[in-house]
Amino acid sequence: MTWLDLPADTGFGPDNLPYGVFSTPGTSPRTGVAIGDRVLDLAAATHDPVHATGSLNAFMARGPAAWAAVRSRLQELIGDAAHRGDVEPHLLPQDAVTMHLPVEVADYVDFYSSRHHAENLGRILRPDGEPLPPNWTHLPIGYHGRAGTVRVSGTPVVRPSGQRKAPRDDVPTFGPTQRLDIEAEVGFVVGMPSTLGEPVPLRAFPDHVFGACLVNDWSARDLQSWEYVPLGPFLGKSFLTSVSPWVVPLAALEAARVNPPPRDHPLVPYLDDETHPWGLDITLEVRLNGERISRPPFGSMYWTPAQQLAHLTANGAALRTGDLFASGTVSGPERHQRGSLIELSWNGRKPLPLADGSTRTFLEDGDVVTISASAPGPVGTRIGFGEVIGQVLRAR
Ligand code: CA
Repeated sequence: MTWLDLPADTGFGPDNLPYGVFSTPGTSPRTGVAIGDRVLDLAAATHDPVHATGSLNAFMARGPAAWAAVRSRLQELIGDAAHRGDVEPHLLPQDAVTMHLPVEVADYVDFYSSRHHAENLGRILRPDGEPLPPNWTHLPIGYHGRAGTVRVSGTPVVRPSGQRKAPRDDVPTFGPTQRLDIEAEVGFVVGMPSTLGEPVPLRAFPDHVFGACLVNDWSARDLQSWEYVPLGPFLGKSFLTSVSPWVVPLAALEAARVNPPPRDHPLVPYLDDETHPWGLDITLEVRLNGERISRPPFGSMYWTPAQQLAHLTANGAALRTGDLFASGTVSGPERHQRGSLIELSWNGRKPLPLADGSTRTFLEDGDVVTISASAPGPVGTRIGFGEVIGQVLRAR
């Protein structure tokens, strides 16, 4: 349903229309929409200055009715050949533009919502205890991260230094992490703010959340394991969080909605999602230096993004436009579905074999990690998320 000549298998068809921020040499960053292998200059095509601000925030703050109106107008513009002459001059090849961070990130929250990931980590780190802490099946565990170090795909990850102390060491030492890892996650971007003191109910998820992107929550496991008791993740996580440049509108994920897995026991009312299930059948793919090493299934997540949003506002904490909350590492039940190297290599004890005959436990300098994803769209199409990519640079 478009006059554009798109390959049948494009993840950026007329049912997707993800938003990003791009520039060309000598021009200012502005909003674009991905269509096939091109990007539509939304500021030029619509003459609306909200799309020329260099981030999606002002547009997202207009709210769901405005999002739906622009989406519907876009589908008209690319669906009806009568508009071809007006639109075509504003279509640029994606490989000729530079992508920027799409959102001015307000607050950043990271959850821990994959049961398989949490159980794997429990078995690795606390082999003599229960794999899940007692609160895990009652609430989506999360922490507040560092919004200022969320960067767009392509930003290199400089190997961080910090305090590390192995169990056999008497005292900690300071130096480059020896256990640099990835976490393949899905992030959700808040468009509409909420009022301080007023929780956002689960059913209001689509009134506040603008769309989804991919997240790589780079993690230094040795720094993390020494610092995290009793207050949780800090410098082992805050050096960089990478996001994909395209934000897939929530409206594009309607056909991907699925029921989450059965819960162990009834949930407290604000988390009960019986009538508003927001499981999403998104399949991630993790590549290391081009070789696929994992395919984590987001549909297997125990806690949905709607439950995460309800939980993070249950105490009356207010949402701001640009808030980003990430799912936590996505891991499925199978070995080839694990979304981190600490799981894939079982904390380094079972190195991951690679196609060239080498093995990997944690990341080495020069390694390139690419996370991509897609979800079912309407009528057999696919909704692509593009990718989030990063190369490891040696410690400075
Ligand atoms: Ca994480």
